[in-house]
Amino acid sequence: MRVFTRVTAPIAMACWLAGTMLGQQAPVGYDDTPMQPNGKWHIHDGKRPQPAIVTPAPPSASPMPGPSDAIVLVGSRDDLSAWQMMDGSPVTWMMKDGVLQTGKGLIRTKADFTDFQLHVEFATPSQVKGNSQERGNSGVFLLGKFEIQVLDSYHNVTYPDGQASAMYGQFPPLVNASRPPGEWQTYDIAFTAPHFKGGGTMDKPAVVTVLHNGVLVHNGTAFWGPTTHKKIDPYTPETAKGPLALQDHGNPVRYRNIWIRPLKGYDTP
Ligand code: MG
Repeated sequence: MRVFTRVTAPIAMACWLAGTMLGQQAPVGYDDTPMQPNGKWHIHDGKRPQPAIVTPAPPSASPMPGPSDAIVLVGSRDDLSAWQMMDGSPVTWMMKDGVLQTGKGLIRTKADFTDFQLHVEFATPSQVKGNSQERGNSGVFLLGKFEIQVLDSYHNVTYPDGQASAMYGQFPPLVNASRPPGEWQTYDIAFTAPHFKGGGTMDKPAVVTVLHNGVLVHNGTAFWGPTTHKKIDPYTPETAKGPLALQDHGNPVRYRNIWIRPLKGYDTP
């Protein structure tokens, strides 16, 4: 219970209410962050246009299995043997009936990858809590360094380069193809790892194509570097390969049916 004097009460109450309300709202953008390399927008710029909303086709009732050469990372059996915590210890996230629930700390595959096709299904909580980046936040980290954002972006305004399926902090999706909270959604991703010449000079950046719920949201777009909050990290030769990682951002997000197909070039049996 707060007690205010008769003179200051209205002002104090207004300030307290405003503070309380502000305290519950996560920021929806920044203008004090560095400019992106093309000089158009700040990283996480809240003034950047919001992607147009596209309603995707309805979700399939059950997960579609991958093709015969796919490596199943999360399948119908509750088997997390392909995964470990980032420090190499056993996974502590819970899996039941083919559904993996985010837990404390990020998880990563034991195997490293370079170029691949990846299928991921996720669902943000059906009970909506929080706003902006605090609603259904997780992430799919390609090579453990390049995040395709997972977020509840259904009627949830946030900075466009941080909404669902964004190349986090770099490019918003071409359109917002999010399904409502609680519904299963899909990412289908084609990824080419960065390539470095002898001596460590990069000659090709990481490139990604992403379909969100079957809708194209990135079309062969190059990352400016590894993704992180409020900045863009530089490419180094260590970024040429890495695991698939899933983010814990303190929100309960579910995953199912994750498979990957490492890619070879043409004419390579
Ligand atoms: Mg995230």
